[in-house]
Amino acid sequence: MNVAKRTFDAVIVGAGGAGLRAALQLSEAGLKTAVLTKVFPTRSHTVAAQGGVAASLGNTTEDNWHWHMYDTVKGSDWLGDQDSIEFMVKKANEVVVELEHYGMPFDRTDNGKIYQRPFGGHSMNYGQAPVMRSCAAADRTGHAMLHALYQRNVRANTQFFVEWNALDLIRNSAGDVLGVTAIEMETGEVSIFHAKATIFATGGAGRIFYSSTNAFINTGDGLGMAARAGIPLEDMEFWQFHPTGVAGAGVLITEGVRGEGGILRNSSGERFMERYAPNLKDLASRDVVSRSMVTEINEGRGCGADKDHVLLDITHLSPETIMKRLPGIREISIQFAGVDPIKAPIPVVPTAHYQMGGIPTNYKGQVIAPKDGNPNTPVVGFYAAGECACASVHGANRLGTNSLLDLLVFGKSAGESVVEDFKSGNLTLKPLPDDAADASLARIARLESQKSGTDVHEVRLTMQRTMQKHAGVFRFKDLLSEGVTRILEVAEQSLHTEIADKSKVWNTARTEALELDNLIEVAKATMVSAEARKESRGAHVRDDAPDTAEHPNGRDDQNWLKHTLWYRDGNRLDYKPVNLKPLSDDVEPIALAKRTY
Ligand SMILES: Cc1cc2nc3c(=O)[nH]c(=O)nc-3n(C[C@H](O)[C@H](O)[C@H](O)COP(=O)(O)OP(=O)(O)OC[C@H]3O[C@@H](n4cnc5c(N)ncnc54)[C@H](O)[C@@H]3O)c2cc1C
Repeated sequence: MNVAKRTFDAVIVGAGGAGLRAALQLSEAGLKTAVLTKVFPTRSHTVAAQGGVAASLGNTTEDNWHWHMYDTVKGSDWLGDQDSIEFMVKKANEVVVELEHYGMPFDRTDNGKIYQRPFGGHSMNYGQAPVMRSCAAADRTGHAMLHALYQRNVRANTQFFVEWNALDLIRNSAGDVLGVTAIEMETGEVSIFHAKATIFATGGAGRIFYSSTNAFINTGDGLGMAARAGIPLEDMEFWQFHPTGVAGAGVLITEGVRGEGGILRNSSGERFMERYAPNLKDLASRDVVSRSMVTEINEGRGCGADKDHVLLDITHLSPETIMKRLPGIREISIQFAGVDPIKAPIPVVPTAHYQMGGIPTNYKGQVIAPKDGNPNTPVVGFYAAGECACASVHGANRLGTNSLLDLLVFGKSAGESVVEDFKSGNLTLKPLPDDAADASLARIARLESQKSGTDVHEVRLTMQRTMQKHAGVFRFKDLLSEGVTRILEVAEQSLHTEIADKSKVWNTARTEALELDNLIEVAKATMVSAEARKESRGAHVRDDAPDTAEHPNGRDDQNWLKHTLWYRDGNRLDYKPVNLKPLSDDVEPIALAKRTY
């Protein structure tokens, strides 16, 4: 096949919040920047973010970055790197105000400041009471953010390649990254995007699970591409299950609902979170609330005919507040649960939502991998930001609203690093190897030539059910080890999938088959890493690692206070230390403690 070549200063894969924020930094600095995206930029999954973006502006209640840093480290169950966390929370006010100046229509307080609402795990005075830290545009914050960033990029002449699917990362023999291969979905044309710098901003992979709040496009493509190119994936055992997915549909009901006063109730109407988290109650950290809900259901206090969900009650709020602050949630509830939340509570269950792990990066957005004894060596020419990256600010459990903050801060810093590396002459256009496109062409050729095999959809469904059963909210020793065997079987099946109609150039099944290659890598990384981690920490809770005096919350800091690195090659695991030292010498580390809310 003839492979065209396009050359840029930088290529960014992904046009969600992280990709657009990084692109802006590059285009405004005059770099020739290409942004590839599977969907139109403003349809990227950031559009679904509802509740808000965290910044300690202190517009309504007193706040400061020290409290935000404490909450984030504690929320991460101490697995977050404290240098990256300090960097992120200190930058929060700057990136939010910047966004406001780009035209983001935040809600306002009566005195004209950015409106802020409380969110789970965010507190004042080191855990004493909820704080109003989430900056929101009603319950459509991500939508407003994407539009503001996209418009700004159009002004800056960023070049978009819409409905282009990046296939593989190109590296040379020294391991430097030289760009990507990609297929134009409409024509089937494969191209090489050759660049001095490559930034991955491909979002999450929530579609590895059966029940997920994630869009169908969230297939972990960046992670799959990185893994196939020999880059390890970090902390993939940590997946956040959001407490409030609509029962039976999985669609998200933002934590902002509880921020506005919503209450979780069991079958007897009890506000059960008072028992599990006496201080922050319904606004405890997500992992804590999800586990409490599942415990209520497992112990027979669930609601409905099958006692398989609990209720989120906002009937005590005024209809005016619901219509003004949560209009989208009301629509979702009516459409997906058949319930008007003004009149009756919404049925909810925990649903897979967010990957804490990803492609390892430092706080500058540079991708890092072990080399010559240094676990954190930057990979030349490669950067990542947003949900696909692991700057390690979320550790074992992310706080709500810290993800939109993560993508703004690290999207910007990845962009700044590229511009800096460019100016200092560290980035050059290196020659492409002769076989640059071979791996991608071989993957496509296999799909075209496969004569019989399992349907892509069927294999994906088996993978999703396996992940849901074997690596869910609570994890069990036997289910995990059986899960490893099962997911490797599914991975084998995925090599023999067949696409139904090969005659069409535009073919959803072909795209889904290519995406499945990536989902499978993420699923393997998750299952293998989860089986190996023998403690409970944050979102990873095992039945054989309970809460004891010796191991608070089931955590084993002596043996497991370390990051997992999963390599595709041989399903190999390696580990590296957590950075417990903040970035600045005058900032005190947040000392290890038991997590209570
Ligand atoms: C329902 C929901 C509500 C949420 N609400 C909040 C909230 O209120 N606050 C908060 O902080 N967080 C929230 N989150 C999390 C947050 O929205 C996401 O983590 C974040 O938006 C991810 O942004 P991103 O830029 O990394 O990726 P995305 O916005 O998902 O963008 C990924 C981009 O990569 C492109 N892409 C992927 N693969 C390829 C490929 N192979 N080739 C080309 N392009 C590719 C896609 O087309 C897309 O443009 C929410 C998440 C969900 C699911």
